[in-house]
Amino acid sequence: MSVEQKPINRTGYLYGPVPSRRLGLSLGVDIVPAKVCTLDCVYCQVGKTTKKTVERADFVCVEKVLSELREKLAAGHADDLGRTDAGEKGPIADFITIGGSGEPTLNSRLGELIDRIRQVTDIPVAVLTNGTLLDRSDVRADCAKADVVLPSLDAGDEQTFQKVNRPHELISIGRLISGLCAFRSEFSGQIWLEVFLVDGLNTDAEQISRLKDVISQIRPDKIQINTAVRPGTEMSLGRVECESLKVLAAQLGPSCEVIADFSHACHVMHGESGPDDVLSMLKRRPCSLNDVCSGLGIDPDEALKYVSQLQEQGLIGRETKGAVVFFKALP
Ligand code: SF4
Repeated sequence: MSVEQKPINRTGYLYGPVPSRRLGLSLGVDIVPAKVCTLDCVYCQVGKTTKKTVERADFVCVEKVLSELREKLAAGHADDLGRTDAGEKGPIADFITIGGSGEPTLNSRLGELIDRIRQVTDIPVAVLTNGTLLDRSDVRADCAKADVVLPSLDAGDEQTFQKVNRPHELISIGRLISGLCAFRSEFSGQIWLEVFLVDGLNTDAEQISRLKDVISQIRPDKIQINTAVRPGTEMSLGRVECESLKVLAAQLGPSCEVIADFSHACHVMHGESGPDDVLSMLKRRPCSLNDVCSGLGIDPDEALKYVSQLQEQGLIGRETKGAVVFFKALP
C-alpha cells in the first residue's frame, strides 16, 4: 500500500486511542512533561526521572489540550458527546485517560481540565496516578472529579518502597498509604489499584503479606497486578511469569486480577494516522507492532512502513522483551 509520509508532530498532548490492558481503548492525555515525577520507579517505561519534585505547577495550556481533544473527536466522526455518527460503532475510546509522561497530579490544573473535558464529551475520564500526592486535599478534590482513579502501590514497607519506587525525599510509604486511605473515604467512584511486581524486589512471602495488609486498609474496588512485560528503566529486570502472577494474585485476595495481555478488538477505525501518531504513542510507552495496529486502527503493512520511517530518521529504537519486539521513542 502506498502511504504518503506525514510531518512529525512532537507537540501534541493527546495520544491514541491506544490499547490498554486496564482500560480497553484509551485516549491518552499527557499533562506533565517527560520526565517530571514524584518517583523514579525501576520499572518505568518512560525512562529515568529527570525532575523529581512534589511541587504542583501549570505545565500545559488547557485550551490547547481541549482543542486537540475536539479535533480528535471530530476526526473520529464523533458528535459533541463523543459518539460516532454511525451509532453502532460506539465512542472512539472507552476512556479518556489522564496520565502520560510523568505524574499527572503534579499538574495544578488537573481538576479544571477534567471539568472542561466533561463539557466536550461524555466518554468516562480515568486518572493514572502513583498516588503519592493524595495526602493533599487539593489533589484528592481534583482526582475525585474522575470516574475511575488508578493509583499504584508496590510496597508495604519503607525499605521496599525506596528500592522499587525511589521516591522524592519528602515522600514516604506512610504518606502514600494515608493519602490512599483518605481518598477512599471521600471518593465514591472506582479505585483500581495497580501493584507492579518486580521479581526479587517485592515478590517474597513477607512482601506479599505486607501488601495484603495495606490493601485491606485502602479498600480498592479492584486490585490489578502487573509485571515488566515491556522494557523498563532497569533493563536487567525480569518479569514475573504468568503462573507465578496467578499464585500471587490469589494470595492478595478475590478482587485481585492479573492484567492480561490486551485482547480488546479494535472496533473503530480512527481515520488517517501517520508516523506522527506512531511517534506520539511510542513517546509514552514502548509498543509492539500489534499495539500500534490496534491503537491506531491501521493495518500491519502501514504500521511497519511508519515504524521503518521513524527508525531511518533515528527517532525510535527497538528492544526485545521475551519473544516480542517493542519500539520506543529515543530521547
Ligand atoms: S510513577 Fe509512573 S511515571 Fe513516575 S517513575 Fe513510576 S512508573 Fe514512571
